[in-house]
Amino acid sequence: MQGSQRKIIINGQYIEPDTSIELNLMVSKLPSRTPIHIPIFINRAKEDGPVVLLLGGLHGDEVNGVEIIRRIMEARHHVPEKGTIITIPILNIYGFINFSREVPDGKDVNRSFPGSSTGSLASRVAYYLLHEIVPQIDYGLDFHTGGASRTNYPQIRCDLHDPENQKLAEYFQAPFTIHSKHIKGSLRYAAYEMGKRFLVYEGGESLRLDEYAIKEGIDGFRRFIGALGLSTPPFSERSFEKSIVIHKRKWLRAMESGLFSTYYQYGDMVQANQILGSIADPFGDYESLIKSPANGYIIGLNNNPVVNQGDALINIGITN
Ligand SMILES: [Zn+2]
Repeated sequence: MQGSQRKIIINGQYIEPDTSIELNLMVSKLPSRTPIHIPIFINRAKEDGPVVLLLGGLHGDEVNGVEIIRRIMEARHHVPEKGTIITIPILNIYGFINFSREVPDGKDVNRSFPGSSTGSLASRVAYYLLHEIVPQIDYGLDFHTGGASRTNYPQIRCDLHDPENQKLAEYFQAPFTIHSKHIKGSLRYAAYEMGKRFLVYEGGESLRLDEYAIKEGIDGFRRFIGALGLSTPPFSERSFEKSIVIHKRKWLRAMESGLFSTYYQYGDMVQANQILGSIADPFGDYESLIKSPANGYIIGLNNNPVVNQGDALINIGITN
């Protein structure tokens, strides 16, 4: 470990061992001239070790990730005993201040990778992250929540065909580990092409804090960096032994429009043919029942009772 120290250079700045610095990356200006900066915190220990990126707010309205990182920073868990942690609590500042998933031009940063320095705003943010930060890291944790009034039960998503990902997901040990193929244009895919591994954490719902999802995110992060040797692993044991691994999932969609209600909560175990909820006509004409197609768990749930035909209602993590 001693001898030649690894070189970490971000934004043209050499990050010395045993330093803590904050960089403010200028992205562009709002039409009002207000400059938009992305704050980046880099904590490098004296001793060399893995470099981990902790990323929140890629989708600006997914506030649970922002809160997870805020609490990690408040407790100083982002300061490693070995190696380096790069912390970006809010990547999509535009979305964060506008309560929106996207940047102002309506584009999704997480579908804009690898990005371009002269492209759309989303593509510029993607380009910067991929060219300035990702080359410096070994691993990334990217914190998300369900979108559009859908809650996700705390889960890690990664491509489980890759043994390295399997190992990393075991380190994090979220309640569920879900096999998820790479999506073109996503950070996870672009980073994988560069030989870097990202775990995507999903927990809770956009624009709403979820204490359980926040707690699982913090605990998982601490187990993860503990297993990688960046810090002393956390003392407390989790209440269940192992992450439940899911290889297949299915969204149950609204067969008709109406008022949706469910009899269960996210995380509940369900059986094939079990009635999970219903869609009712607001004027009392009909009610249709929603059945589970398989044995599994409710890993995602829509919280908006007013639904249109085709809306995603219940995400089943299939176990049989
Ligand atoms: Zn997201």
